[in-house]
Amino acid sequence: MSERVLVVYRESSDVQPYARAIESVGAEPVLEEVRTGLRIGPCCGLLLTGGGDVDPALYGEIASPETDPPDPERDAVEAALIDEALARDLPLLGICRGMQLLNVHFGGSLVQHLPTVGRHVRRTSDRGLPAHRVVIEPGSMLASIAHRQMWEVNSRHHQAVARLAGGFKVCASDPEDGTVEAIELPARRYVLAVQWHPENQVSNDPEQRTLFQTFAAAL
Ligand code: MN
Repeated sequence: MSERVLVVYRESSDVQPYARAIESVGAEPVLEEVRTGLRIGPCCGLLLTGGGDVDPALYGEIASPETDPPDPERDAVEAALIDEALARDLPLLGICRGMQLLNVHFGGSLVQHLPTVGRHVRRTSDRGLPAHRVVIEPGSMLASIAHRQMWEVNSRHHQAVARLAGGFKVCASDPEDGTVEAIELPARRYVLAVQWHPENQVSNDPEQRTLFQTFAAAL
């Protein structure tokens, strides 16, 4: 039996690319809509997906006009799942909003609307097309996964990590404007989060599959 990964979503129309990426590396996605009381339970990994903005109140800020209306239930449910994953030292892969929530949950903050937003919100019909480069930090877990110093990534985020959460390490950033593009938590076996959407890139760039392959291998 393949290992099960909990994939949490708010909009069912958004979840299929994540599910297919997990399936493509031989693991079984367990798709669960956000609901209070949701637990990782019998799954042995957590995938946090993209979506609306994290409530700025969680990092002590007033919402800017560009920030999405808050979804306190989703923020709280996913924060509890992060705690469960870390307590059990389960592999956690955060994508886009997932990365932002992970950072906020451990005391970090976000840029609510990037000054270079045009560079990071690229909505193309093919969601797998790259938008900008990221530089990968030598010696990081991500470097050992990617086996390269640069990656061409897609991009559709208007927010990003501002103050980094304690214990985390920036493992990729945009070389042009310095935007944080990936973070990891060295104290755990596999806690990695990226700002781009590898679930859309796996078909165009087989090397992005290594993110899901190493995640599945850690289950
Ligand atoms: Mn970006």
